[in-house]
Amino acid sequence: MCLIGMPIAQSLSPAMHNAACAALGIDATYGLCETGSGGLAAAVAAIRGPEYLGANVTIPHKEAVIPLLDEISPLAARSGAVNTIVKRGAILRGENTDGGGFLWPLRLGGAQLDQWRVTLLGAGGAARGVAVALLNAGVTQLTIINRTVERAAALVAALEDARADILALDDPWVGGALAASDLLINAVPTGYGPDATLPLATALLGRLPAHALVYDLAYRKTALLEAAEARGLATLDGLPMLVGQGALALQLWTGKEVPREIMWAAALARRDGHPSS
Ligand code: NAP
Repeated sequence: MCLIGMPIAQSLSPAMHNAACAALGIDATYGLCETGSGGLAAAVAAIRGPEYLGANVTIPHKEAVIPLLDEISPLAARSGAVNTIVKRGAILRGENTDGGGFLWPLRLGGAQLDQWRVTLLGAGGAARGVAVALLNAGVTQLTIINRTVERAAALVAALEDARADILALDDPWVGGALAASDLLINAVPTGYGPDATLPLATALLGRLPAHALVYDLAYRKTALLEAAEARGLATLDGLPMLVGQGALALQLWTGKEVPREIMWAAALARRDGHPSS
């Protein structure tokens, strides 16, 4: 198994998957396949070799990989994004486990998603899986805000769901959408340093109601989440989502129930630079 993408040197996935394989007694390893756009077709062709169970796909290939695969799951097709390639004999099947991974910590926390209105910042590969998961989970409204309005419009058109709409970053209705949101999701890579937060995202925090949850898909606490906490808002980072999407992928590759707590501990240890116990 491997991760196909670029840049991926800092990925937590090998630590997480290799710990789970060791715990399950599976004789397999998960490595990195750092690949730019020019090498994607060759990387996918290599997965067809007998030594592979499958692969994950990340930035910037989640959409571009689709035409290189033999079949696509309904979830991945609706998302227009593949983050997991599963081998079924000679067939390479595209799956999307980002959405299921995204929902996992919300479900653990008892979120009443079928009563929530949601604002989603971003319309990239991760946002696509998240949008489909939220609509499938029954949210009452999903407003997508993206720098490139055309990309958000294409996503909403593909979703074909009256609950999904878009707003431009500078639309005067943005404040109103935020004021009615139970959940603000950041699917834009805003970074971790004090100057790294998208200024607009931080400005949006002030419009949220006091009970709102701010969920940043980044794998650790971001400046955006720190700003949200400073305002007394509940927050969630993307590490549980990473574990959730990885667990679903490993389950698809091996057919086994996977130990999420072991994956979580390994990802945390790798992220924070200490040995996992
Ligand atoms: P992506 O496909 O490259 O999409 C990036 C998104 O961010 C696009 O909507 C893009 O807008 C927007 N963006 C980028 N730079 C921006 C800027 N300076 N100002 C405004 N908007 C900007 O990336 P992705 O795969 O969706 O990943 C997004 C984030 O989610 C990353 O932080 C990634 O690490 C995280 N992620 C987490 C998990 C997890 O398991 N926790 C899984 C997947 C991804 P345009 O359309 O205008 O370019």
